[in-house]
Parts: sequence; C-alpha cells; structure tokens
Amino acid sequence: MIRIAHIEPGSIADDLGLPVGLAILSINGQPVRDGLDLLFRQADEELVVETETAAGERLVYEIEKPPDEPLGIVPEPDKIRRCTNACPFCFVKGNPKLDKLRAGLYVKDDDYRLSFLFGHYVTLTNLRPDDWERIFSQRLSPLYVSVHATDPEVRLAMLKNPRSAGIERDLDRLARGGIVVHAQVVLCPGVNDGRVLTRTIDDLYARGEAIRSLSVVPVGLTSYNADRGVRALTAEECRVTLADIDRARARALEERGTGWCYAADEIFLQAGLELPGREYFDDQDLESNGVGAISSLVERVRTGLSRLPDLGGTRVVAVTGTSMGPSLERLARDIARRTGATVDTAITPNTLYGPGVTTAGLLSGEDHARALEPYRHFDVALVSAHALDDRERFIDDVTLEDLRRRCGGLRVEPSYDLIDVLSAIR
Ligand code: SF4
Repeated sequence: MIRIAHIEPGSIADDLGLPVGLAILSINGQPVRDGLDLLFRQADEELVVETETAAGERLVYEIEKPPDEPLGIVPEPDKIRRCTNACPFCFVKGNPKLDKLRAGLYVKDDDYRLSFLFGHYVTLTNLRPDDWERIFSQRLSPLYVSVHATDPEVRLAMLKNPRSAGIERDLDRLARGGIVVHAQVVLCPGVNDGRVLTRTIDDLYARGEAIRSLSVVPVGLTSYNADRGVRALTAEECRVTLADIDRARARALEERGTGWCYAADEIFLQAGLELPGREYFDDQDLESNGVGAISSLVERVRTGLSRLPDLGGTRVVAVTGTSMGPSLERLARDIARRTGATVDTAITPNTLYGPGVTTAGLLSGEDHARALEPYRHFDVALVSAHALDDRERFIDDVTLEDLRRRCGGLRVEPSYDLIDVLSAIR
C-alpha cells in the first residue's frame, strides 16, 4: 500500500480529484507495495484502482488512459531498505556527529529499488527470497552493484558481513535471470588493489554482457572516518591502478569495442594526470559516481559556448570544489573570451568533511557563503545544482534562499553546466 503525498496539477489523478493521504491498495488486482509498483502498475491503458480513504472507506476508480501517461500521483517516500554491512570506509559513518546535516545523509541505504530507479550502488547482501523473485519478475535491470572484490575473503573483510562472500554466486544468479549489472570497486589501498583488483577485473570481464561496466573509484575519506584503518591512495598507487585498468580496457576495446572498465575522475587527479576526454567513458552514464563527470562538464560547456549571448560588463563567479577547480578555471576563461563577461572561480575547500572531500556536490551552505563573501559586488554566482536536494537545501540544511539572503544583491543560481544559466541570463 502507498499513500498519496502530492498530486501533479492537470494530471489524471487531479481530474479525478484523488485527495492527498488516500491509500492506493491495488491496481488491476495487483498489490501496490511501494513507489516502484505504482510506476509499473500504472503503465496499462485500463486501470482498476482500489483505494482506501483515511476514514477506512474503500473506493474503486476505473480509468482509461494512453499507455504511457502517468496518473500524476506522487507517493509518500518508501521505507528505505537499510544496509547490513559494516564497511570501515563507510561514508555515512564519515558524517560529522552533528544534528544539523540533512537527515537522509545518516541513512545507510542498500536498496535494490533505488539501484534500479536512480543508479544507487547496492551490495546484494540484504536480499531476501522475495526480493530476488521481484528483481526477476519485474526485470529490474540494470542494477548497480558494489562488488569491491570477487575474492570472497577480501570482500568479507571489507563489508564485514558473512553474506558478502557469495558475490560471484549472486552475480551469476542475476545473469541467469537476465539482469545486467554496472559494477563498481571502491579501491582501498593494500586491501583490494593490485592483484586483488586484477582478479576482480578478470572475474567480472569473464561474465560477458552480464556486467555492462566496471567503475573503479578511490575510497573517499572524511575527517571523521580517516582513523578506521583505511587510508587514501597515494599518487603512485593511482598510477599503478590506472595501468591495471588500461590493460583491461585494451582487451575490452579489442574484443568488444568498448572500454568497459573506467577509472573515476579522482584517480586521474590524485595521480597528477590529465583527465581523459569524454570518449574514454564511451556512452556510459556513470557521472553520479564521479566517473566522467568532469569530462562531461567540459564537453557540455565547449559545445554550449556558441549559445551564449554577449555578456560584456557582467561579473560572474562559479563556486566549485577543489577537484573540479583547474578544469573550471579553463572553462571560465573560455566563457569570458566568448561573452566578454568577467568570469571568476571560487574554488572552495570542504570545511565540513575535510580536505579529502573535493566534490562541489558536498559543499555546505556555510562553505558557499564563505566562498561568495568576496564576490557580493558581482552580478551572478553559479553554484552546483548537485549541492542542493529537491527542496533546495545544501548538505548542512542551509537553503538556497538562506544563501541568497546572506549574499545581499548577488544573484545566486544553481547550475548543472554553467551554460544552462548563462545562456538564459537577462
Ligand atoms: S555498504 Fe555502503 S552504506 Fe553499507 S556500510 Fe558499506 S559503505 Fe556504508
């Protein structure tokens, strides 16, 4: 059963007058257990929707609609399936012990539904028999799986969960059921790099099309989880890892025509190497995992430059984290040349999590306010849209409106790629 949290204006549910709080029990006789069921079950042209009001009255709605038109129901959030592992490098455990962060940041989710819907990486260690059955019956493919190591002992040492050692059996089960996997390795030096990594690469590659990609990302340590026996990769370890990945890529490119195995942007940066162009990442969409995000931004800005108007006299500042800094400085120069605007970058260290966290998406509202202090006389400030949740709150619960108030007359706009805001600026 799901309960309606919101109705999209002008939608079918709006026309029917379905009220917020109404429970949806079933559609066409099939139970609606959660938002994912609602998504699947509303796809038919003819629907019989069984509901229950807050007063316990059962109402049935018969609906005819085009097959692809959604009902316009936004359900209350589902109960998240929690993680049952205890990874020493867990980023959730790396949150500061403050009650001022967004509550969701303290949730250790390991939910295969979110994996299918939003590309969250899951470990498969908390799946019950009915979850497996659902994955196959609803064909929840692709799924995103944190493999870390195919060596059972190493994976057990990393996840500290007896159920983690059967990862190869679980991947084979998914493959037999026709479920494709995007795999990831979070690389912890001295634990799953070197020979363990090459074995993991080989084991996953041997599963053919069932493993669509493998991302290798460096362990992310904050000031709060850096004392748990896991350390960051050195520059040399990053270079050795890139060589391992390159060998896998050479084989995959020759045999399958795709690179298949991808290093996260941060590995190149920590190795002190230039980031590869967008072609390195094929057409894989792994940016939310920090894989190809910088190259993608560079490409979007370069191809969007021609859409920018003359902005002579406009003063623009773009806020970013330290990993994106050098690339953003180059893009700012390109934009300034093209538009005549003054374009500065405010490259901002993360004072909440510490210097090991370098992405713009994890900069707090406080960090943004500090970074923008010297730019209050500018016209426009661009902040990463990835730093805000769907209620426009930064990670420390500071809202975009709070930030705007603190910045006085400076116009603060969330942006995905600079071009989106600057091309529409008046
Ligand atoms: S699987 Fe993810 S959420 Fe769970 S303990 Fe490990 S890092 Fe944390």
